[in-house]
Amino acid sequence: MARIGLVAHDDKKDDLVAWAAKHRHKLGEHELWGTGTTGGRITEGTGLKVTRLLSGPLGGDAQIGAMIAEGRLDALIFFQDPLTALPHDVDVKALTRLATLYNIPLAINHATADAVLAAL
Ligand code: PGA
Repeated sequence: MARIGLVAHDDKKDDLVAWAAKHRHKLGEHELWGTGTTGGRITEGTGLKVTRLLSGPLGGDAQIGAMIAEGRLDALIFFQDPLTALPHDVDVKALTRLATLYNIPLAINHATADAVLAAL
């Protein structure tokens, strides 16, 4: 069982819920963690159990980053919005930086998320 972080920016939440619905059965074999709103949307949309942290802009991204630094996450699915400026851009950068630093699989869209999940 892998420990998977799930985060999506507002304009990407529908995308991530659709991706999670497509992979519902496979995702159900893993331990899922999400930022507050993303986690709630995935549970609503798919019935999957997701442990919800704080909302991303209120510290949830930092909590996911801390889990990576502590070796408590095996992969991160992080659908970022490339078209909108975000008030918590520093947290977004910190989270992608930690995923890079600790060499965990980081998926940024459907194509990479499919590949990461298949490899887990
Ligand atoms: P949210 O956070 O799931 O609480 O909206 C995601 C984000 O970092 O924007």
